[in-house]
Amino acid sequence: MEKTKKYDVLIIGGGTSGCACAYNCAKNNLKTLLIEKNNFLGGLMTGGLVVPIMKSSTSNLNTRYYKKLIKTAKKYNAQITYCDKNDGWLNPELLKIVLDDVLTSNDVKNNLDILFETTVLDILKKGNVIQSVILNSNLLSIPVEAKYFVDATGSAEFSKIAGCKFLDDNINKQQNSLRFILGNVDFDKFSKFIEKVDDNQDITNTNRNDSNCKELHFTTASTWDTNTKWALDKYLKRAVNDGVLKNSDRAYFQIFSIAGSNNQVAFNCPRINNYLDSPIEYSKELIKARKAIYRLLNFVRIYFPGFENAIITNIATQTGIREQNRVKTKHIYKKEDILSGKVFENPVLEANYPIDIHSNKKNKSTLKKLQKYQLPIESLMAADFDNLYVIGKILGAEFSAHSALRVQKSCMSMGEAVSYKIYALDH
Ligand SMILES: Cc1cc2nc3c(=O)[nH]c(=O)nc-3n(C[C@H](O)[C@H](O)[C@H](O)COP(=O)(O)OP(=O)(O)OC[C@H]3O[C@@H](n4cnc5c(N)ncnc54)[C@H](O)[C@@H]3O)c2cc1C
Repeated sequence: MEKTKKYDVLIIGGGTSGCACAYNCAKNNLKTLLIEKNNFLGGLMTGGLVVPIMKSSTSNLNTRYYKKLIKTAKKYNAQITYCDKNDGWLNPELLKIVLDDVLTSNDVKNNLDILFETTVLDILKKGNVIQSVILNSNLLSIPVEAKYFVDATGSAEFSKIAGCKFLDDNINKQQNSLRFILGNVDFDKFSKFIEKVDDNQDITNTNRNDSNCKELHFTTASTWDTNTKWALDKYLKRAVNDGVLKNSDRAYFQIFSIAGSNNQVAFNCPRINNYLDSPIEYSKELIKARKAIYRLLNFVRIYFPGFENAIITNIATQTGIREQNRVKTKHIYKKEDILSGKVFENPVLEANYPIDIHSNKKNKSTLKKLQKYQLPIESLMAADFDNLYVIGKILGAEFSAHSALRVQKSCMSMGEAVSYKIYALDH
């Protein structure tokens, strides 16, 4: 066993929210340890291939890390600003290098240690205070004492081991996705094709006419929901008739070209049924999803001009799980808090991203426009412990409210807000 290491803050999970928290804790002079089970940072942003960051903030509240990330990504040609002014279009593979740069930069490096390929073996607690943990780092046991703990695992694994209570209002689980990337795509040919077949700018657009953009980029989508007219659905239907796709492949199809590349396209599909409570069924779903990826490859090669020579370059190493465990916190954030735009004393963020439930039923997915809303810091404070914070997609929010708050920029603001809270308590 190694000698006990002592920190002000231990953050478990170096993904979307954990990196934001670690950067800001270290910048606030808190001695910080960030542990990550993968051998790279970024979580869903890198391993999950989730791009782009959705526009969600309506103010500058707790966006210091986001700005640092975007500025650093620009340096690596890993970022573009899209024609809707969203500057969060990133390159998921380059982002691994960008995040290493951000979290070892001069403003934080003296206060931040990072342990890759490390998880938690055991937690020692007294009453409602977590005192220390035993980490497993490449089979070495490392005891760590910290004053504050932050669960940024995306699954609430740390809170589960600690014995926290969870919210159980989730009757309509969200569908998950296994994202992938195709390379060798002719951007010019495909964007001219979608510009011709779909003039609905809410669904399909390219930045061809944006004089500020040096690179050509685009996005488009199609789902089997009947409340919108999807211009691409006729191609998906034809492919089902031709035996190239299965009907379930029509459920959700969405693509984004990738920043810093002139031939790679990220797919926000295929969908995976949510069998997270049944490990065997869940594993079968992953195998089915990879088969669906192969069908989708053949589909775009045959039906979409520009994809004739496409190849699979990446399949996500982290499954796209939208919602799994939400921890019981001191304030449970409610749908009414969002809809009424309730104002709080200690807001974590100000956002307007809509309630976005990916349903397993046709015509049940939601994406309703909202006014500005705030999230209180108490929704990130575990109810069962005085020194445990939960950030990112495990926050204490009701099922539908959660679906608005889980987007990346909001997760980053959560990490940042918790760093200020800890700093205030520690000084
Ligand atoms: C399919 C899909 C599409 C989405 N599309 C978008 C989109 O287009 N735009 C957008 O803004 N948002 C999107 N989202 C939402 C957003 O990506 C996530 O909600 C957000 O990234 C979650 O951040 P997080 O920090 O909670 O988790 P993650 O980013 O997943 O980070 C969790 C980290 O913890 C690590 N970890 C887990 N357990 C342990 C452990 N025991 N020990 C150490 N480390 C551990 C993981 O390896 C990971 O690095 C999407 C989500 C999904 C699933």
